Amino acid sequence: MPSEPAAVVRGQPLINLPPAGARDPRPGLSGLASGRIADWLGGHQQPAYRGRQLADHLWSGAAQAPDELHTLPHALRAELATDFRVSTLCETEIRPADNGLTQKGLHRLDDGRLIESVLMRYPARGWRRARATVCISSQAGCAVGCPFCATGELGFERDLETAEIVDQARFWRHWLAGVGQRLTNVVFMGMGEPLLNADRVLEAAAALTDSGRFGLGARHVTISTSGVVPGMERLIEERPQYTLAVSLHAARPELRDVLVPLNRRYPVHEVVDAAARYAATTGRRVTYEYVMIDGINDTHDDGLALTHLLRHQQAHVNLIPMNQVAHTPWQASPMERIEAFALQLRTAGVGATVRRNRGAEIGAACGQLAADRAGAPPPAAVARRRQLLVVESAAALGRPGS
Ligand code: SAH
Ligand code: SF4
Repeated sequence: MPSEPAAVVRGQPLINLPPAGARDPRPGLSGLASGRIADWLGGHQQPAYRGRQLADHLWSGAAQAPDELHTLPHALRAELATDFRVSTLCETEIRPADNGLTQKGLHRLDDGRLIESVLMRYPARGWRRARATVCISSQAGCAVGCPFCATGELGFERDLETAEIVDQARFWRHWLAGVGQRLTNVVFMGMGEPLLNADRVLEAAAALTDSGRFGLGARHVTISTSGVVPGMERLIEERPQYTLAVSLHAARPELRDVLVPLNRRYPVHEVVDAAARYAATTGRRVTYEYVMIDGINDTHDDGLALTHLLRHQQAHVNLIPMNQVAHTPWQASPMERIEAFALQLRTAGVGATVRRNRGAEIGAACGQLAADRAGAPPPAAVARRRQLLVVESAAALGRPGS
């Protein structure tokens, strides 16, 4: 695992958030191994069934506060609250979108840091059952610094703890229960690079897929990575059945260096090799995410490079029209170009889908609220960054920057 991701070397984050406050020393209950809770209960002279009651509240009921642990005696609830947090999300602001089918959550953590999660509900259609997918964050900010991503603009703040990751899913399970619905999928596509916080992310994914805890099927959990090869190796070794998504965005190394700066440390061929090993060991097809940026990565040559890279892989490409992010000079490719690009891939034998639905908003939705909250960066910094991007992408495309 690298000590310092490549993007950090590139300079300061565009947006500076206020300094963080002090941490709450009480661990979040959902991040603890069950043995630790059992020991604590034993130490407080509680019978074993209290452990089961607490687990029911925490996981099936997704309790958010001590007063929701209603089968436990008041005194025990108070003692628990002295030593632990029932939820590590201190405050959540919810903003609905798409007539309520999308709900964006902005969560404040103990130290004042802001992270985001997004709930997307898909009503039943034909033979497909209704789904409710939650997109969760793994870090506050992100060090990778992809220039089309709102989280990338914030720079890196800190890794999330296991409980802070799990509690986002628990929050939405609780919310959904209030409207009589069930949470069906979790995707690590919010703020942060999951495999640069691999220990906690894998612990959180284990909790989410443990039948005695959150209880989702492993295939219903997707981990998205910008290509952290050592983290991918770890997934290959541990062989969980999670769905792996790789954020590719460019097949040509010199362009990927600009769009996903981590490419300078883990070049695209190594990333695709690692993804192929993941597919071979798990039997699961890998999804490649490709954000379509007008005039930058959507040319016929880009399509050719992509088919060369993926045509012998067990892979599927998701083409995502870029969501407008405040401080980039770029925008989404026109829909006709995206359709033509998809056709070019399919004709060459590479499966491709255009994401027109709300899934396309996942990445951009995450990070945007926190970035808005942080206020506008100085205009001179925005201008410098835009100029740098224009020059770098022009160099990668082999044409004079202007
Ligand atoms: N760091 C991980 C996971 C979080 S980002 C990763 O990069 O894979 C989740 C997805 O949202 C990525 O595929 C990312 O490229 C995409 N995304 C980020 N900004 C976007 C934007 N402006 N428009 C569309 N998708 C975006
Ligand atoms: Fe980080 Fe993913 Fe955003 Fe890139 S796209 S800056 S890796 S969160």
